[in-house]
Amino acid sequence: MSNKDEIMICERMSDIERKISESEGFKLVSRDFKSRDTIIKVGDVEIGGNSIIMVAGPCSVENHKQTLDAAIAVKAAGAKLLRGGAFKPRTSIYAFHGLGEDGLKILQMAKDATGLPIVTEVMSSEKVDVVARYADVLQIGCRNMQNYPLLLEAGLSDKPILLKRGFNSTIKEFLLAAEYIMAQGNPNVILCERGIRTFETMTRNTLDLSAVPILKKLSHLPVMVDPSHATGKRELILPMSRAAIAAGVDALIVEMHPKPDRALCDGAQSLHPGEFKELMEGLRPIAKAIGREV
Ligand code: PEP
Ligand code: MN
Repeated sequence: MSNKDEIMICERMSDIERKISESEGFKLVSRDFKSRDTIIKVGDVEIGGNSIIMVAGPCSVENHKQTLDAAIAVKAAGAKLLRGGAFKPRTSIYAFHGLGEDGLKILQMAKDATGLPIVTEVMSSEKVDVVARYADVLQIGCRNMQNYPLLLEAGLSDKPILLKRGFNSTIKEFLLAAEYIMAQGNPNVILCERGIRTFETMTRNTLDLSAVPILKKLSHLPVMVDPSHATGKRELILPMSRAAIAAGVDALIVEMHPKPDRALCDGAQSLHPGEFKELMEGLRPIAKAIGREV
């Protein structure tokens, strides 16, 4: 067979793969349509490049001091983006639901003080505008992965979207949700594996690490892991983050609280500031071993 014949066969094969993807509903998310990795720029941070990007901060914005202390600590340890929820989806109606727009203002203050761009959740399509006024990255939480009006509205935003995998969703459903956002014209979607529900009760969820190489193969979008919500236990953050890096993740999102014992939300899975620093140190050798950096 000549080289030309081989090239023709390869082109034909990728045509067939492309048609299969398309018939399943994957188009813009798929590697068959864009082979090169997507790199998402947030300020001067690049997500999806060689550096593994750390996003860290409290589960919820509680007040000025807590958020500023968290921002200063995570920045000093090497995080590149600050996380913090102002609109909180909580299982119980009686739990703390966040400070709303006041919380967004506190995040803005922490950004002004540290220079860290902000990642924060938006829970409904009507709130996309207000959250996007403050956020650098809009987070769509696991409970809303299939909230189609929200996905469509997020697709009209010019802000990158951090889309979390639903705890009861397949990888295919996850990619189809990302396709909703991209089909609206927003190409900047980060795919975040945050654990799925299984019969196991030792952890809050079960971190599906195999999702990382599968997503990297099927899609050109950057892939993130959230070991905090995946495990629910702070002592599991280091080993699972190391494993996620070994599996090929582009970014990690980790909860850290200046005083986890007093946190209004997710204290048990939040690292102390010193532990976050140790986490960063513990990740560097793993990243280096695979030719990347943290
Ligand atoms: C969060 O990151 O604050 C959060 C609520 O996560 P998830 O949607 O993955 O539960
Ligand atoms: Mn949380």
